[in-house]
Amino acid sequence: MGIIGKTPEDRASACWQLDREVSDQSAHDLGRELLTGLPDGAINIGFEAVDRHVEEGHGDQPALIWHSKEGERETLSYHDLAAASSKFANLLQSHGLKKGARVFVAMGRRPELYAAALGTLKAGMVFTPLFAAFGPEPLKTRMEIGDANVLLTTKSMYKRKIASWRAEIPSLELVLIVGDEAPDDCVALGPAMQAASDTFQAVHTQPEDPALVHFTSGTTGRPKGAVHVHGAVLYHALSGRYALELQPGLTYWCTADPGWVTGTTYGIISPLVNRVTMIIDEAEFNLERWYGILEKERVAIWYSAPTAIRMMMRAGKEATEGFDFSALEFLASVGEPLNPEAVIWSNEVFGKPFHDNWWQTETGGIMIANTRARDIKPGSMGKPLPGIEAGIVEAEDGGLRELPDGEIGELALRPGWPSMMRAYLHEQARYDKCFKDGWYLSGDLAMRDADGYFWFVGRADDLIKSSGHLIGPFEVESALIEHDAVAEAAVIGIPDETAGEIVKAFVTLNPGQSPSEDLERDIRGLARKRLGAAVAPREIVFRQTLPKTRSGKIMRRLLKARALGLPEGDISTLETDET
Ligand code: ATP
Ligand code: MG
Repeated sequence: MGIIGKTPEDRASACWQLDREVSDQSAHDLGRELLTGLPDGAINIGFEAVDRHVEEGHGDQPALIWHSKEGERETLSYHDLAAASSKFANLLQSHGLKKGARVFVAMGRRPELYAAALGTLKAGMVFTPLFAAFGPEPLKTRMEIGDANVLLTTKSMYKRKIASWRAEIPSLELVLIVGDEAPDDCVALGPAMQAASDTFQAVHTQPEDPALVHFTSGTTGRPKGAVHVHGAVLYHALSGRYALELQPGLTYWCTADPGWVTGTTYGIISPLVNRVTMIIDEAEFNLERWYGILEKERVAIWYSAPTAIRMMMRAGKEATEGFDFSALEFLASVGEPLNPEAVIWSNEVFGKPFHDNWWQTETGGIMIANTRARDIKPGSMGKPLPGIEAGIVEAEDGGLRELPDGEIGELALRPGWPSMMRAYLHEQARYDKCFKDGWYLSGDLAMRDADGYFWFVGRADDLIKSSGHLIGPFEVESALIEHDAVAEAAVIGIPDETAGEIVKAFVTLNPGQSPSEDLERDIRGLARKRLGAAVAPREIVFRQTLPKTRSGKIMRRLLKARALGLPEGDISTLETDET
């Protein structure tokens, strides 16, 4: 299998072919064709991502091109990355750590992070990335839940956020510090790497051996630690090839941080397994810098998120002028619903639409996607990938009933694809609740249309019931951002005696716009025209920012808790905010 083609046109038409060829093969079979494997059914993500490419003669190909905050540019070939990850694996073993040991990383997007991820996997140990921007408390809770044995971090993070509670995590045996110096109770990474051998035979892990623990974004409540296994790489390979069109030699940029599952599955594993050259930017979102990277590196495949796309839209088309985006072949988005407005906008500005796709930390890989093989329906998440069966279900008589096309219910998947989570750490009951009647329940509400496309409606918790109508926040938010003045919108339900709930909206404005009663009336007028009076927001509040998680998701539950004067709940992943 492969969407292999020399030109963008070849590749686009090969996608068509693929869609027809693979429709009834299992995800396991399809994934296996893209991998090498190890003797006796063993499979190791780290081996598949780097070592085998070197064995197959591709060691000189750039694996990653790193842009530092300060503007340096550094290239690591597959050979360099294999050597650096081998050193890290040897280093771990030299400290007596064994297969299954849990290795946490909390640092910015620097080459050491990538070497550590792959070295940990090659050593058969379990990798957990955490956002470098987390405060002391979120770092500590996650390391506690995950029984961390090793932590790789920076000196300044260690001093500011970790040293004071380190002793309270008895499982933590080794703290590695990036650079050449480290406090007395830590080990400096630089000299330790230098001393380690750069050859290492990847551990022959079995498909069910744990490989990764990822914490969910915490959008709906306390984050869960989802466990993924080495066998997941079958699906990492397949879904990257199929939904993102990753293939050997292409330049690819995933803007997500590895602290969020997208930044690991599609920011480390899938691209390397598919032998692309990946771009890594250490800096945070900065429009000019991003456009510059797209142009300079001639990025062909770009995977980003609605929050960033809406920021680009906010800056306007003018900001893109003078940049050359002609290398771009395929754009994809994940993390939140992608408003139809954004799809149309990107098509105008980049000459290519963003392709929305849907998945979760739990699913380990993209489940439903818009691909080039099929027409995009702007506002839809697309169709299930090959080997994935999705349905819309509703609780009935203690079981589940599948709903017909056109009806709103919970989005569910038939378990069994390779990258499905195997547990929530220490939360068996919460895990068991995700499965019922042969389905995995996603917690999201959606609808399937007659053509088999899935449409996101909202989180099950975010659904609004007003005067007998079921209202999905996404639909209302998309109508609001159609207004020229509106940049972003978040919609919640507020209890109301007569209607049950009424719709309340929070919006941020585009540059040059300022809040006024006239503007509010105008936005409400547009919403009423688009949605009808029953669904349009009754009240609109103007804000400078919306509360978001570090992975860029709007935290509606926080807006709601505040509006109702309720406790805020777990806000360990909260990034931007204004009260
Ligand atoms: P938590 O489970 O802790 O509340 P979270 O669900 O936001 O956090 P993630 O696993 O990072 O954590 O995000 C998955 C969720 O993101 C999905 O369940 C869905 O609600 C949302 N999502 C992802 N992609 C899309 C998309 N393309 N369209 C709409 N929603 C999406
Ligand atoms: Mg979730």
